[in-house]
Amino acid sequence: MNTMSKITFTMIKPEAVQANNIGSIVKMIEENGFRIVAMKKVQLSAERAGQFYEVHQERPFYGELVEYMSSGPIVAAILEKENAVADFRALIGATNPNEAADGTIRKLFAESKSKNAVHGSDSDENAQIEADFHFSSDELF
Ligand code: UDP
Ligand code: MG
Repeated sequence: MNTMSKITFTMIKPEAVQANNIGSIVKMIEENGFRIVAMKKVQLSAERAGQFYEVHQERPFYGELVEYMSSGPIVAAILEKENAVADFRALIGATNPNEAADGTIRKLFAESKSKNAVHGSDSDENAQIEADFHFSSDELF
């Protein structure tokens, strides 16, 4: 990985995988200038999903979020681009697809505020933590 560039971490969430939208979402990611450093399809246990979203454990939707994120396979990926975190948040759109801008991934593919198609890291620090949570160094290219 180029040490001068920045990374973000994403997951294509269970309902988008179930709806056969992996390819369409990955196409948008690549067309918007992100390079795929690592990518895999995995199913998270409830325990792993709970760890990933630990920061939200006091929020009312935490239990449902953990159940949903462990309900089926996801696609986890590390993406590389200048300004990756902010540019990817712009590409995915607001958490609630009803508030997401036209042309964003969530506007196009999300079912609801909870089943919102994709995750995107919210800071450089969290991008690194989340990438390390899902991938080991021999999976990065
Ligand atoms: N979420 C939810 N209900 C809410 C807010 C969030 O189910 O009222 C879920 C949703 O899947 C969201 C995730 O929890 O993507 C993490 O919430 P966050 O506020 O970090 O939104 P994001 O950063 O994903 O836009
Ligand atoms: Mg978030």
